[in-house]
Amino acid sequence: MESVNPATGERLETYDDHTEEDVDRALDRASEAFGEWRDRPINERQVLLSRAAEVLRENQEEYAELMTEEMGKPIVEARAEVEKCAWVCDFYAERADEFLADEVLGSEPESRSLVSYEPLGTVLAVMPWNFPFWQVFRFAAPHLTAGNVGVLKHASNVPGCAKAIEEVFTEAGYPEDVFTTLLVGSDTIDDVIRDDRVAAVTLTGSEGAGRSVGETAGSEIKKSVLELGGSDPFVVLEDADVEAAAATGVQARTINSGQSCIAAKRFIVHEDVYDEFVEEFVAETEALSMGDPMDEDTDIGPQAREDLVEDVHEQVEGTVEAGAELRTGGERPDGEGNFYPPTVLTEVPRDAPAATEEVFGPAAAVFRVGSEEEAIEVANDIEFGLGASIWTEDLERGERLARRVEAGCVFVNELVKSDPRIPFGGVKNSGYGRELAEQGIHEFVNRKTVWVQ
Ligand code: NAP
Repeated sequence: MESVNPATGERLETYDDHTEEDVDRALDRASEAFGEWRDRPINERQVLLSRAAEVLRENQEEYAELMTEEMGKPIVEARAEVEKCAWVCDFYAERADEFLADEVLGSEPESRSLVSYEPLGTVLAVMPWNFPFWQVFRFAAPHLTAGNVGVLKHASNVPGCAKAIEEVFTEAGYPEDVFTTLLVGSDTIDDVIRDDRVAAVTLTGSEGAGRSVGETAGSEIKKSVLELGGSDPFVVLEDADVEAAAATGVQARTINSGQSCIAAKRFIVHEDVYDEFVEEFVAETEALSMGDPMDEDTDIGPQAREDLVEDVHEQVEGTVEAGAELRTGGERPDGEGNFYPPTVLTEVPRDAPAATEEVFGPAAAVFRVGSEEEAIEVANDIEFGLGASIWTEDLERGERLARRVEAGCVFVNELVKSDPRIPFGGVKNSGYGRELAEQGIHEFVNRKTVWVQ
């Protein structure tokens, strides 16, 4: 496995893949570790998690630079990602015991019943490269604290991050093998899911990977959580604060250089404010700076891999061929690195690639609609259902419409974001299950009913 700097094409480091025997040993050791870890009082597990938050903060710069080098995230965003990981650790360090406390259902004189939340065992986490620390901590903070042990299969282009995350837990004082990284390709995942020593699996990644992991887990009757792709609508109604919507919309599309599952991808704008929105949106997009991700002033770094640039460019070209107007961007720059400029496509037809597929790069598709009814229809006219954003000055209207959008989360007058305090996840082809908050920590536990007569 190799890390390659996407800004320069330079090879940073080569890692030996784990062999079949290594994987076998790791699963044995994880099972052994579970025996002891599950019996530790939860408060001890919480103390270790707050120590993990400290380790993250102590080494923030080192981890941020590692992410930026391996996958090209602008350094300012990389630092914020490390801090967010520390936050999710703090959150569950403070509240996991409350979320996992016994729920007493009935206490009659002749009987008592309760639900107790007990860990399942070894949980396999298959993770993507786009938020290489956050996605892993979003999994590990709740589920290790619930008493499970974790085995990570990270994306093949971020092996350095995968190793560094393992070291965070070691440095924080976790017992050996409670969290293990496997450096393996995705072709080994089927066998790992089928292994009797693995109890459950979570995957964050593309729809295709989700189908494969979900199918295997289903055939083994193992619990799975799938956090997949999205093509989130960003609806701007005629009574919206257009300036705020355009500024936030650009941020929502281009965060992480456009490579975010919950990026706003389809801008659905009422015709009464369409021209004003597009003008502001294009101006804000053109003000972004693209370049060296290590530079503090860079807004847009390289795309993580060469093939990803090709995919985005193909979708942009296909959308223009389908009849959209290219307002800015859309041309690959010369020179080294996997750069793709922030791009705006307007008057996008509803059958164009940017209307029906996920565009995983900094290209926005703007649609013109004539009514709130049509806006909701366009918003829902896609196979994904991850997040959505609605802009209106009428908050009751915003909330009413939020209930009609087919998505796992809807934000009114705000961009879609993940936050430890609120559940996160999708519907339709964006997957199932929830991460974060109380709902997230309950995904990989046995909600055991106990009745005492
Ligand atoms: P990806 O190609 O699906 O890879 C994600 C992970 O799955 C990697 O570890 C990958 O390993 C592994 N994988 C790929 N194919 C697999 C298969 N058939 N069986 C088992 N594992 C497999 O996705 P990506 O390109 O890294 O990430 C972009 C996608 O993830 C986008 O669609 C994005 O929207 C989605 N995403 C969703 C969320 C969310 O929370 N819903 C968050 C972030 C990203 P290798 O690297 O070894 O191939």
